[in-house]
Amino acid sequence: MKKIFRVAVDGPSGAGKSTIAKAVADKLGIDYIDTGAMYRSVGYKMMRKGISVEDEELLRKMLDETDIDFYENNIILDGEIINDKIRTSEISKMASLCSAVPAVREKLVELQRGMGEKKSVIMDGRDIGTNVFKDAEYKFFLTASPEERADRRYKELKEKGESISYDEVLKNIKQRDHNDSTRKLNPLRKADDALEVDTTGLSIEDVIDNVLKEIK
Ligand code: C5P
Repeated sequence: MKKIFRVAVDGPSGAGKSTIAKAVADKLGIDYIDTGAMYRSVGYKMMRKGISVEDEELLRKMLDETDIDFYENNIILDGEIINDKIRTSEISKMASLCSAVPAVREKLVELQRGMGEKKSVIMDGRDIGTNVFKDAEYKFFLTASPEERADRRYKELKEKGESISYDEVLKNIKQRDHNDSTRKLNPLRKADDALEVDTTGLSIEDVIDNVLKEIK
């Protein structure tokens, strides 16, 4: 039987994790799991239901009745494809807030471990190499300057027609960096055994090549 392996890709928002992870998954013929999309889905459902992060009890009940899965790179929340609905700056903030709630992390980490148990996966997020798959065979930590990350996000949001200024996007990125790296539970940090790749000024192809070289 072919041995399965896990690839962890962590780093701050806008470092290019999902673009790189998706391309590497295609090249290697393994599944790509976007864990940020899972936190976004929870944030989206909370917003739709009007549940705040302080409502622990309601939130736990909501999580018990929540099903999140991926099918052919679509994210499915309770049977509904929600790909585009979770890519707004409003949902980014909700995802960052709800990701600090223990009940949310417990539920999603359990789902993530289940997804990487039986098949090879590349998973991107904030705590994959430090928590979800501490024993992942390959670990990468992607970074880029806040300005470059804000520039990438700003272009993405503009293309989608969101009216937001570059300064606002930069402010949001710095706020999320702060929330993600200072939260008590599984904060964003590089695993000691992860390879750090600074993508500032690098092309997507260069980063993909660097990652593939390590894995092959
Ligand atoms: O990667 P993305 O920007 O889609 O993630 C949205 C939010 O979800 C992040 O700002 C972070 O707060 C949270 N997250 C997390 N742990 C992960 C992935 C994402 O806390 N493994």
